[in-house]
Amino acid sequence: MTTLAFYGGVNEIGGNIIFLEDRGTSLLVDFGKSFEQYRKFFNEFHRPNSFRDYWELGLVPRLNVYREDLMKIQGEEKPAATIVSHSHIDHCGYLPFLHPDIKIFCSGQTYKGIKAFEMVSKKSFDTEMTSYTETYDPERKIIFRNMKFPKPTKKDPNREPMYYRTMLQEKIPPKPVERKFERRTKFSIDSIECELYGVDHSIPDACGCIIYTSDATIGYTGDIRFHGPNANKSFYFVERLKEERPDILITEGTRLDEETTLTEEDVRWQSEEIVKSAKGVVFIDFQYRDIYRLNTFKKVAEATGRTLLTSKKHATYWKYFEDYYPHILDNVALFHRRAKTRMRGRAPELEHVSDEEIRSHPERYLIHLTFNDFGKLIDLSPLKGAVMISSVSEPYNEEEEIEAQRIENWLKYFNIQKHHLHSSGHLSGPDFEWMVREVKPKIIFPLHTTQENSIKMKEMFPSQVKCLNLGEKFEMKKGLLNYM
Ligand SMILES: [Zn+2]
Ligand SMILES: [Zn+2]
Repeated sequence: MTTLAFYGGVNEIGGNIIFLEDRGTSLLVDFGKSFEQYRKFFNEFHRPNSFRDYWELGLVPRLNVYREDLMKIQGEEKPAATIVSHSHIDHCGYLPFLHPDIKIFCSGQTYKGIKAFEMVSKKSFDTEMTSYTETYDPERKIIFRNMKFPKPTKKDPNREPMYYRTMLQEKIPPKPVERKFERRTKFSIDSIECELYGVDHSIPDACGCIIYTSDATIGYTGDIRFHGPNANKSFYFVERLKEERPDILITEGTRLDEETTLTEEDVRWQSEEIVKSAKGVVFIDFQYRDIYRLNTFKKVAEATGRTLLTSKKHATYWKYFEDYYPHILDNVALFHRRAKTRMRGRAPELEHVSDEEIRSHPERYLIHLTFNDFGKLIDLSPLKGAVMISSVSEPYNEEEEIEAQRIENWLKYFNIQKHHLHSSGHLSGPDFEWMVREVKPKIIFPLHTTQENSIKMKEMFPSQVKCLNLGEKFEMKKGLLNYM
């Protein structure tokens, strides 16, 4: 018997967690952090202090998958492996809590994306994706050490201490634990066979998968689109699904209510037109983890004879992808930082362009400026005839709307003309309909989509779509589900 349960991504966009069990062997498919749930309790100022906060508030599922130093009482067998479809946090954000014995299967660039994201993130217990240091164990033997305060300095090695303090020190300091990433796209664990297929999405090398268990064949799209630079990969994945005729298709439906979108090529040529006719500074705002969008704007920079300027953090992230894209940092330079960038990784050696230089020769640059760096607008002002190409998705919740309003306020204050040019990372309604008609799955589970969109899917394919409830479990015997 095979069982399938959904612990995240149900009636919300992202935070996917799928738990699959087949003849005593289990597998996690994506281990994503749900921002919607997280924001119910926390924001950027009030952050969780420890894993316990996540656990007690029900932000992480009650599963036997966590590190032993975080969760003492562990029940039945742990899953043997996790598949990570791609490196967006809503699909892999809870990896820092995962037991190190659980192998992580993903594509090469997904691993790079996870590593790079960790290196540009602030050091914190919930960003330790590829390796971690065990939390303090009170049972571990400790020694006491008397420390003198204030400590002697180089200048004054004989400085008289004013007082002593007793310090606790662990006898054996905890060592960092490396996670096991397996960059393989075909593997089997006992009775479960898995195949990962590259699909097109707004982050490089995203994957969908086909999982064969003893009682069912299951297809999972991950996040997918059919209009980006790697659309051929998505089409091939659909071909494979069509051949396998899955019993179950778990599919995203983020943009089910939308019909069209610009392509990456549309973003490129329309941006090029705007940049060519610009009289002042040109700013561009895009998600730095979308290497395809970076490539688009690098082409725009080249065609208009400009240099792409960005922040230290973004350049550091891009540097990690040099193995795959050797020219990723060509024609990229840095603008002067305003505040100290707090991250684990070291920034690449790139030219810094001064504010004076940008002010006197705005026609030489294309400035990648995301909201966190908007302070640069103050440094660069007065800005005459400046434009901003906003290449990000439209706000989809209240919080994003507030942030979008803040962006509007800045642009209005500095009299910057805004153009919105974006190509989405997700498939449209008509593409979804086409995909389902091609694949002809027996059952469709909508995941990574709103409740309204799940209902819409149900209206399109009433006999196939089963809308989900959080934590719901399905049993399959020879492809049949218990609810039927
Ligand atoms: Zn997602
Ligand atoms: Zn994604």
